[in-house]
Amino acid sequence: MLIEGQLTDAHGADTFLVANPATGETVDSVPKGGREDVRKAIDAASAAYRTWSERPAIERSRVLLRIAEVVRATVEDLAASLTLEQGKPLGESRSEINSFANTCEYYAGLIGRERGAHTPLSTGEGFFIVTKRPLGVVGAILPWNFPVSLMGWKVAPGLAAGNTFVVKPASTTPITDIRVGSLLVKAGLPAGAVNVVTGPGGVVGEEIIDNPKVAKIAFTGETATGKRIMEGASKHIKRLTLELGGSDPMIVCDDADLALAVEGAAWGRFRNCGQSCTSVKRLFLFDSIAEEFIRAFAEKVRTIRVGNGLEKSTHMGPLHTQEQRAKVESMVEDAEARGAEKIVNGGRPKEAELMKGNFYVPTVLGNVDYDAHIAREECFGPALPIFVVKDLEEAIERANDTVYGLGSSVWTKDVERAYHAAERIQAGTTWVNSPPIARAEVPFGGFKQSGFGRELGVEGLDHYYETKSIQVLEYGKGKKWAFPIG
Ligand code: NDP
Repeated sequence: MLIEGQLTDAHGADTFLVANPATGETVDSVPKGGREDVRKAIDAASAAYRTWSERPAIERSRVLLRIAEVVRATVEDLAASLTLEQGKPLGESRSEINSFANTCEYYAGLIGRERGAHTPLSTGEGFFIVTKRPLGVVGAILPWNFPVSLMGWKVAPGLAAGNTFVVKPASTTPITDIRVGSLLVKAGLPAGAVNVVTGPGGVVGEEIIDNPKVAKIAFTGETATGKRIMEGASKHIKRLTLELGGSDPMIVCDDADLALAVEGAAWGRFRNCGQSCTSVKRLFLFDSIAEEFIRAFAEKVRTIRVGNGLEKSTHMGPLHTQEQRAKVESMVEDAEARGAEKIVNGGRPKEAELMKGNFYVPTVLGNVDYDAHIAREECFGPALPIFVVKDLEEAIERANDTVYGLGSSVWTKDVERAYHAAERIQAGTTWVNSPPIARAEVPFGGFKQSGFGRELGVEGLDHYYETKSIQVLEYGKGKKWAFPIG
């Protein structure tokens, strides 16, 4: 792991193994950090904060640009490393690494160009200026589905604002994050400004939650873990950004470009083997186009080639772990037990070379009960339930019938219809005629139990600041508050 700019073993010299989801083979062993390691990293980040937060914005911007350059230059190595530990196809890994660089470039461009507020006092005594101050040490707790890009969503705005970090990668995807951490130092980031501590969530993550020197936690992962973080963070009133997944609806209206929507649904559901917080997780089709759409979609889904992410011919890799596959399987079985029919009968592949991995062939379900687990919970894998609705009002009502509210999409050529749906769907983002694609310049985050706070965009930067108001009174005018009050 990386502490104070040095690659180091755990204090207790313990290690754990990281497995390749496509083969079950060991990729590497990684230090199993304990609380001492986290404390050391937090102290390093605290020391680095004193100098990093005082560096002029233009210098922080230059370091971020240099980081983007160094990461882009290493894209092939990093992508291979990511595919080995995460499972996604190489093309997706490349795009994830580039997205890390892109986020750094975006915030490098933003920092130093912000404007603050000047508020004249209504009494005429003077004015306030409203400024922003960084928070201090931030704990970034990462998931395994996008280990690198989601690290970028946190460290790029956080560093731009002058904060420093202790990053805790998911235990099944720590390797590429450690490599990226080392590249940050190579690119000129001061030692200690970003530390990467590997080890179990129940130990490393808990120390980040407990330690009073950590001012904020930025987390992406499961709702239950988010609740635990919220509870623990209350002890020191830590700032939080929580991104906790979703059950995103995709609504296809009767006037939609169906060919485009078919591609969008395939991209939106099966990219990253369906393991994205904003994957399309429930598909709503107007009844008049349902038959035609389903025929074309099923044909498309049957062409998706499942395999090892390192193979050029692979469209979709394995699920990340056996547990993830078991969860998807049980959701599909539950839906079938409640009367769902398999439009595309995927499931476990039969090919011998895929037996050792956590593979699952895309599965599409029709006639799904609205109370089935796959309709009510987050299905984090390549299985998609389809629902037929009579009109937009029914689609919106069904779409909102969930505790989640992260992403959503509506497919129509009618701009009034699109706007009507976007205003009424309870989700942080509504894409119109597009699958869910996050962009550095657009704020991303959830309504309801999908979390709070925003990442990316100008709003994302704001979540790494405190707002500070400074009063200036004109000489001789500030006497109206003399005590006792008359
Ligand atoms: P978790 O929420 O358990 O893991 C996310 C991160 O939190 C990991 O780094 C994990 O560490 C860490 N963590 C775990 N326990 C604690 C704790 N007590 N304190 C602090 N940090 C902790 O998600 P899972 O990996 O278990 O995935 C389960 C489900 O969550 C998925 O099936 C999916 O539905 C959802 N999910 C959603 C994601 C999203 O993008 N919104 C991303 C990933 C999962 P460690 O790996 O060491 O346990």
